[in-house]
Amino acid sequence: MTKIAVVPGDGIGPEVIGEALRVLAALAPDIKTEAFDLGADRYLRDGTTMPADVMARFGSEFDAVLLGALGDPRVPSNVHAKDILLGSRFQLDLYINFRPCRLLDARYCPLKDKSEADVDFVVFRENTEGLYTGVGGQFKRGTADEVAMEQEINTRKGVERIIRAAFSWARTNGRKRVCMSDKANAMRHGHDLWQRVFREVAAEYPDLQTSHLYVDVLAMRLVQAPQEFDVIVTNNLFGDILTDLGAALQGGIGLASSGNLNPGKAALFEPVHGSAPDIAGQGVANPLASILTVGMMLAYLGRAEDETRIQAAVQRCLKAGRVTRELGGSLRTTEATDAVLAALG
Ligand code: ATP
Repeated sequence: MTKIAVVPGDGIGPEVIGEALRVLAALAPDIKTEAFDLGADRYLRDGTTMPADVMARFGSEFDAVLLGALGDPRVPSNVHAKDILLGSRFQLDLYINFRPCRLLDARYCPLKDKSEADVDFVVFRENTEGLYTGVGGQFKRGTADEVAMEQEINTRKGVERIIRAAFSWARTNGRKRVCMSDKANAMRHGHDLWQRVFREVAAEYPDLQTSHLYVDVLAMRLVQAPQEFDVIVTNNLFGDILTDLGAALQGGIGLASSGNLNPGKAALFEPVHGSAPDIAGQGVANPLASILTVGMMLAYLGRAEDETRIQAAVQRCLKAGRVTRELGGSLRTTEATDAVLAALG
């Protein structure tokens, strides 16, 4: 039996995950879910962030983890979010951050004269190395002579496996082009490794067109001509930035979903948006990112047809303007889910 661990989290997390679970129950009533009380409330109550036994269960007992959002103004250090999300990424070795950027309705794209077919690319962001490992240090902190260093980690294994994942997914999913992005002209050590590994792996995929763009050029091209891109593979920092650009192109963070993956081993799915404390508890959060995230999770679990159905239902709601207020509609969170469920039939 398929088992999903659910971490609703903070702020609007429990609201939108509750809605996504309604869609999951409608499409896949055979999937079992178990909720975990992790997040700011738990941390403030008893100091727990991420128990080791729960992390071990996530890695061994569940087919996937579904996470809402983490972040709460009452925990300014954000220590719980770091332990839960970054902890899962590192300890479960979730090396792929999988971020599709697909425009479902042209009217939500901020670029002029772009059709839905123009924005349909996937970013493979390296998720366990780069500049986000916390390797570095501070010296003479708080003085005029302060030194702060952040080290970028690029390992042969880490670079190769994310590049391979991008190529393999492109071929399996009928995509034609893979673009690697780095800043090898300025970062001559780590990004030279990316260049060499990309060329090596690309040689094994002669059926796919390959290209390379420095990240500054890629940012520009994504705005000028997003239709040029199918699959983009890049490091942790650049992927973080480019995928938010991608989220904007697809209509905003209320529509963006993501997967943190180590295929065959562990997977954690989450909407891209944060806990949005400014609107938490008001019943106005957009549940579509979480609903699309459930679709992505179902596809990963071998139910690609369910993802297609969810995307089609969400697209129908977007085209009919049956959406929450930040997308220009008037529906409340639960009503937006009702609309999706109705569109699913
Ligand atoms: P984080 O650091 O956790 O990403 P953030 O404050 O940078 O948090 P969000 O929490 O995503 O980012 O919120 C950014 C803005 O987008 C806020 O104004 C928030 O209300 C809005 N927002 C985020 N998610 C949603 C949603 N699902 N529905 C409606 N508005 C949202």
